[in-house]
Amino acid sequence: MTPIPATLIRGDGIGPEIMDAVLAALDALGAPFAFEERPAGLNAMERHGGDPLPEETLASIRRTRLALKGPLTTPVGSGFRSVNVRLREAFGLYANLRPCRTIVPGRFSDVDLVVVRENLGGLYVGQEHWIPVAGDPHAVGVATGFNTREACRRIVTYAFDYAVTHGRKTVTVVHKANILKVLSGLFLEEARAVAKDYAGRVAFDERIIDACAMQLVLDPARFDVLVTTNLFGDILSDLVAGLVGGLGFAPGANIGPDAAVFEAVHGSAPDIAGQGKANPVALLLAAGLMLDHAGRPDAARRLRDAITATLAAGTGTPDIGGTATTAEFGAAVAAAIRRAP
Ligand code: ATP
Ligand code: MG
Repeated sequence: MTPIPATLIRGDGIGPEIMDAVLAALDALGAPFAFEERPAGLNAMERHGGDPLPEETLASIRRTRLALKGPLTTPVGSGFRSVNVRLREAFGLYANLRPCRTIVPGRFSDVDLVVVRENLGGLYVGQEHWIPVAGDPHAVGVATGFNTREACRRIVTYAFDYAVTHGRKTVTVVHKANILKVLSGLFLEEARAVAKDYAGRVAFDERIIDACAMQLVLDPARFDVLVTTNLFGDILSDLVAGLVGGLGFAPGANIGPDAAVFEAVHGSAPDIAGQGKANPVALLLAAGLMLDHAGRPDAARRLRDAITATLAAGTGTPDIGGTATTAEFGAAVAAAIRRAP
């Protein structure tokens, strides 16, 4: 099969080493992607004239519409906006997808759910200001959230379409419309309207965020696809990562009409960078999502099976109690791919 053009960003901190492990596994799959490597993050800024998201990188993603990205550190100091947020905005990546599935049975053995988070609006847009009172310039803090009808409709439609194409049965809309009657109320209103279009194909359920958080911790197996606004999605997707072993097992996809960017959810972990201790599973799973997205579900399944087999055989990095280095883990997954049919 022809390799699929894609952009590769190694990123900062542990990024380069976990990306090497992923490339070893992808090689074993016959190198399904033809990668253009491009710089971004703190390392890029140091080498490319002060910009953590150089134009050549944006141009590559514009061309390939597909990127696999290591963690990016946003430079500390005023004037730098989050590189990850800039990428989302540059390509209108409005859907953040966080699948969460048990690989190594822990507290739960049967978690298999997907959080779909609205990625561009809500209370996450950073529109904040202070109100001074009686000599205290920071006496009151104010944040403004925005949910447009169109954005609500688009993200809920994405979640239902995802459910249809992935054989999922139920979409649960998570909201706080009882209190935030406008910001969250609009989201719920649109969700109910969209759900009608899928009646008979995908079941629709609604939960208030606080109750949903409790139910997720008590009995995650009852959930299937969850769709919610930006801030709730941010919190819930880390919560569900915790149900299956933590951020080391959490891949994410940022999807928009013009491009899709796949990543591990964790950060650059500078404390362990360059030591071969980093767990590459989250980025490996992200590569699996990218294979699914690019129409190679077979390769995605082989990759996931090899990750599961490697972990089941007791191979793991130190964060999960193992003794393997990052490179050894990548090589073990590659070997498992080559062994399997
Ligand atoms: P950033 O500023 O880029 O977010 P961070 O250090 O905050 O970097 P986090 O993802 O928040 O990165 O990780 C917090 C801690 O979890 C790290 O310091 C590291 O010790 C651990 N950690 C994160 N990802 C991994 C990984 N893939 N393998 C092993 N440990 C990890
Ligand atoms: Mg962090």
